[in-house]
Amino acid sequence: MSRVFNFSAGPSALPEEILKEAANEMVEFRSAGMSVMEMSHRSSDYQAIIDETEASIRSVFGVPNHYKVLFLQGGASLQFAMVPLNLMVDHKKAYYINTGAWTKKAIAEAKKFGEVIVGADSSDETFNYTPQLPTPPNGVDYYYICSNNTIYGTRITDLPQTGEVPLIADMSSNIMSEPVDVSRYGMIFAGAQKNLGPAGVTLIIIREDLIGKAPDSVPTMLNYKTHADSGSMFNTPPTYGIYMVGKMMKWLQANGGIEGIYQKNREKADLLYQFLDESSFFNATVNPKDRSLMNVPFLGPNDELNAKFVKEASQAGLVNLKGHRSVGGMRASIYNAMPLEGVQKLVAFMKQFEKENQGA
Ligand code: PMP
Repeated sequence: MSRVFNFSAGPSALPEEILKEAANEMVEFRSAGMSVMEMSHRSSDYQAIIDETEASIRSVFGVPNHYKVLFLQGGASLQFAMVPLNLMVDHKKAYYINTGAWTKKAIAEAKKFGEVIVGADSSDETFNYTPQLPTPPNGVDYYYICSNNTIYGTRITDLPQTGEVPLIADMSSNIMSEPVDVSRYGMIFAGAQKNLGPAGVTLIIIREDLIGKAPDSVPTMLNYKTHADSGSMFNTPPTYGIYMVGKMMKWLQANGGIEGIYQKNREKADLLYQFLDESSFFNATVNPKDRSLMNVPFLGPNDELNAKFVKEASQAGLVNLKGHRSVGGMRASIYNAMPLEGVQKLVAFMKQFEKENQGA
């Protein structure tokens, strides 16, 4: 069977050339005489891989020198606890914006460690828009946002003015898809499995002054300082995943860097949203100004036709278009690695499906 166009929300499509390159190096990595998977994380061959990966992240994403880059495990979900454990320290109070399932989870976790103020919330309209982001009150340890809501398909375009309060962002589903001024953030984190590589690596970019605030009661492995002090080598890091993230960075560089990929992402998203807005059959669910460039949820006329669409699309090689189990309908995740051709094929298929099922 040939490769399909994979619209999965995560883990998601990786560029075919990267997979082929990894396949070529699978058994013997360059002159090492072994697979990257078999290497000691303490070996000089592996040290070169992690160093190169970090350097290319810094260069591609524009990470200033006073930020650490860490490769952790436990997924983005572990960060829901690590953020308050390490940062909800001085005031034991933090400010959260609730824009969907992933911030709800982060809020629930933070409440275990201190007081949470929910400064804005879009649950009144099933999270189909991004609320106005207020300035935070005095006396909060940090301001928490999720920059792109994977499930509902919204994104934040205007950052809040947080003054001295560190801004913390879960960028799991839109990291490196558009230009970001890292210096506006205290910390950025992302699970790798959408735009950065395979599942198993969580990327943390954290300003150095925020490291070392955690009380002694915080478990060693959950303290950012542990990992910052040891170059993400306190214990065995997710070695193969980090190597793949390095490959993705090279691919991004070869594709015009973040600015280049952003133009491509805009083109893909515009094509799909424009079709959805013109269609009398399909509907985009999100407020136009808040629409994600990465996750595009949409609905057909009824559940029966939605199910038929997902099934027939899959038969046509356009897979994983079913919406998240909590919202139904459809969702096309069109991360960095989805080529324009995939979105063109999807739109052509949708047009055809609309014609065949209009009035059904
Ligand atoms: N945050 C966001 C925005 C996500 O999309 C996801 C996963 N889809 C998570 C957090 C949780 O990530 P993980 O499965 O890596 O814990």
